[in-house]
Amino acid sequence: MPNITIYWFRNDLRLLDNPAFLKASTESDILLPLFYHPNNDLIYKSVKRVGIHRQVFLKQALNELKTSLKSLNSDLIEIQGNIFDQIKKIADVIGATKIFFEKIIAPEELEQESLIRNLGIPVETFWQSTMIDLSELPFEPQNMPDIFTEFRKHIESKKIQTKMWVPSPSKLPPLPSKRFKSATNNIFLEEIKNEKSSFPYLENQFLGGEKSALAHIENYLLKKLPHSYKETRNQLLGIDFSTKFSPWLSIGCISAKYIAAKLKEFEDQFGANESSYWIWFELLWRDYFRFLHFKYGKNLYIKNGLNKNPININHNEDKFETWVNGRTGNQLIDAGMRELFLTGYLSNRMRQIVASYLIYDLECDWRKGAQWFESQLVDYDVYSNHGNWLYIAGNGTDPRGGRRFNTTKQNLEHDPNNAYKNLWLN
Ligand SMILES: Cc1cc2nc3c(=O)[nH]c(=O)nc-3n(C[C@H](O)[C@H](O)[C@H](O)COP(=O)(O)OP(=O)(O)OC[C@H]3O[C@@H](n4cnc5c(N)ncnc54)[C@H](O)[C@@H]3O)c2cc1C
Repeated sequence: MPNITIYWFRNDLRLLDNPAFLKASTESDILLPLFYHPNNDLIYKSVKRVGIHRQVFLKQALNELKTSLKSLNSDLIEIQGNIFDQIKKIADVIGATKIFFEKIIAPEELEQESLIRNLGIPVETFWQSTMIDLSELPFEPQNMPDIFTEFRKHIESKKIQTKMWVPSPSKLPPLPSKRFKSATNNIFLEEIKNEKSSFPYLENQFLGGEKSALAHIENYLLKKLPHSYKETRNQLLGIDFSTKFSPWLSIGCISAKYIAAKLKEFEDQFGANESSYWIWFELLWRDYFRFLHFKYGKNLYIKNGLNKNPININHNEDKFETWVNGRTGNQLIDAGMRELFLTGYLSNRMRQIVASYLIYDLECDWRKGAQWFESQLVDYDVYSNHGNWLYIAGNGTDPRGGRRFNTTKQNLEHDPNNAYKNLWLN
């Protein structure tokens, strides 16, 4: 009996260093690659869960992936609606014998996985979104240290190296016979009209997709920016002060492992310093928020998170609305919220400042802030977004019990000449 498989692309929209897709392609006689769009519901007034910045970036990435798959005589089918019904219809028509996909252990993504498992077709999932492999962790992920510094020290003391990345498949199995098209014909896909991404605001737009991701990292290294990253990473304005890897990482146009390998090559060739190490250090934060999900799962998504002594919150919609609209009256906050709305991006420092302001100054529910970020950020990543919001709210694993940022102090340190505020407020 032939192996007729479905590969479900999730946040791994790439061919290079995609071990799951490589395995699916080598083990299948017939292979159907597909992507599922969850319904894009309204989350706040007329604002959708996936806002325009992410829609556009995602669309570009999907178009590029489709082109790459077509060049290997395959294709990418996009579906929307009820995931169980849609995949069942397709699996029945093609006689699928197995479904492969990347594992994502956030609550909604796990629910999707269990629906797919209910189809009764064998499923194979892969953990492949971290820089450090699960198998290399010096502890079971369920027992990982709560505190980031301890986690990092474990990794560093065991001298754990990032594994080598895997190549793109050089050829792909054929698609199922044309009959599968009938199962996907009536699938409604929302049109994305605005094809121009506004991220970043200063230069030619960055495009979603694997090619742009690879070109971006190449360019970043060519400019030798890793050597100055630590000194510039807290700036607010411009492109080169931080890596800007996040939009591509969030939907997997590039893997964290590949970035780590390229950084290592850079260090071997041009020398390592504290700054180049610091990019690895930040990518390890990304891994940390992912691995924490193995330990705490859904508890990270409830109002008080892991906090046994939470502060009382009186969420106020009017105050929340001033924050969302960049009309709180605090100029730094308002500048940040407008930058986010207009471009889909905010520096890490501004994310911390506006999140702290919503939680501690406006006394609003952190989950509403996290939801707003989800809709606006071009680089929304479920693990990093929830992890960082919880951390600032003091409902995660921060040993200091939360981070409050004083906006007067932050103004003096990061925008003393008002350049940032002037750009976004005028
Ligand atoms: C409230 C809040 C919400 C956030 N939401 C997201 C999100 O949805 N998606 C997202 O990718 N990042 C999120 N971050 C983390 C961080 O702000 C962004 O990753 C970073 O600003 C992206 O820009 P960059 O690629 O230039 O980062 P760089 O400073 O160049 O860092 C390099 C890479 O390291 C990782 N990284 C850096 N800082 C963090 C961090 N604090 N936590 C996890 N990973 C990190 C990212 O993958 C980033 O691309 C959030 C931070 C805060 C405070």
